[in-house]
Amino acid sequence: MRVYHLGAECYPVAKVGGLADVVGALPKYQCQAGLQAAVVLPYYNRQFVREHQFDVVFVASTLLGHRRFDFEILKERDNALGFELYLIRAPGLLDRENVYSYPDETEQFIAYQLAFLDWINWSQQTPDIIHCHDHHAGLIPFLLYHSVIYKRLKHVPTVFTIHNGQYHGAFGWDKVGYLPEIDMTVGGLLDWNGGINPLAAAVKCCSKFTTVSPSYLEELKVQSNGLEHLFEMEEGRGVGVLNGIDSQVWDPANDAMIAAKFSAKKIDPGKAQNKLALCERFGLSPDKPLISFIGRLVTEKGADLLPEAVSRSLNELGDQLNILVLGTGDIYIQDELRHLLDAHPNVYNAYLGYDEKLSHLIYSGSDFLLMPSRVEPCGLNQLYALRYGTVPIVRSTGGLKDSVIDFEQPDGYGIRFEEASVDDICVAVKRAVELYQNTAQLELLRKRMMGLDFSWDQSAGQYIQLYQSLIPKL
Ligand code: ADP
Repeated sequence: MRVYHLGAECYPVAKVGGLADVVGALPKYQCQAGLQAAVVLPYYNRQFVREHQFDVVFVASTLLGHRRFDFEILKERDNALGFELYLIRAPGLLDRENVYSYPDETEQFIAYQLAFLDWINWSQQTPDIIHCHDHHAGLIPFLLYHSVIYKRLKHVPTVFTIHNGQYHGAFGWDKVGYLPEIDMTVGGLLDWNGGINPLAAAVKCCSKFTTVSPSYLEELKVQSNGLEHLFEMEEGRGVGVLNGIDSQVWDPANDAMIAAKFSAKKIDPGKAQNKLALCERFGLSPDKPLISFIGRLVTEKGADLLPEAVSRSLNELGDQLNILVLGTGDIYIQDELRHLLDAHPNVYNAYLGYDEKLSHLIYSGSDFLLMPSRVEPCGLNQLYALRYGTVPIVRSTGGLKDSVIDFEQPDGYGIRFEEASVDDICVAVKRAVELYQNTAQLELLRKRMMGLDFSWDQSAGQYIQLYQSLIPKL
């Protein structure tokens, strides 16, 4: 079965968040299961790309409205990621350093999708499935089924996965000319609230859409930035598949990015040594519980609640704990987190930037990982925390609800709270500090967490079944 995955990010080529982790892992596991899965990304001028060898396998030019652009398809030579990786390079459009936030983002991602479709069309390829991830690849199902020039590919099933339903990539109808020879009698499929909405168009046109957790499928009906009605109407075509993690990349027994290796069989001294390394680096004290946060500093993640929750917890609990933040995002949140540094030396620290290696050390060296998310389609951080024996403290939403059981419930291992509020976070932090005093229970929970299997072995199979149900039977 030949499957093409399309999306804006793929670890380790270009990562901003969890989308990259999924697109960098799911195809690998699918290949291990015997599929021919490949990833097609825009070309990014980044370290991975500079350090690997690529062959040009296709060269062409195509139209973006009235503008003709040249593009080439580059194939990574050594299969370094465990699947075929293709990059679409188009000087001036698809050759950037960063993944997002360019003023011509609409043109950038439309060019990416058109070049992909032209490539497979002109090179006479007929994949069994085209799997699109988030709105950056969301126009492909519409173009495939409703643009005359791709009619050869009309029967190819498309799967669309929603990693984040808050972002739609919407743009005005004045740019409809970028989409080639479309059948305007079905132009309404592109529309939502008077604009072209790639996320909505993908949900309407794809063969089947998936969300990255079962609970998120439900939540989109009440919280999806204006698409709630759409998700109610299209409910029957959606499936929730909880993300897995790449247990080869995220493996405390084999992780070159941490200070000391450990496993479920022998958690200490390895885990304790990681905590020590972390505390030394950030001036914290290793004999107190260490609660960390990793993630984008945005309201979606509840990061705006952190500054007050940090200072209140530290004031109320009389500095009985350490708190560490790794993140980057909204400037006002960064400023507030920075201002707290002077008030709470030796018990609080923050690294306001992006650092993949440090994230591994934090997952391995922390006692608890806090996730006060308002919206969490799946959340991977809690799954990494579990794998590294770190108790997740999560708000009960989306994928957090689907993957964390409170430790006071049968077979539980985490700490859950209901509201994205400073009050609820502080109560949860207090429960964490109490739990930390009970060494025997903490040890048991660590073993239990590290014995859980959230690897892609589980979820990759669900996608394969979905693909099989969509491929026309001969
Ligand atoms: P989202 O994709 O919404 O940001 P996820 O939980 O799905 O959230 O994935 C977040 C991923 O990004 C995880 O791999 C996490 O470790 C990583 N990450 C987020 N912020 C940082 C950061 N500042 N430094 C390093 N890794 C980060």
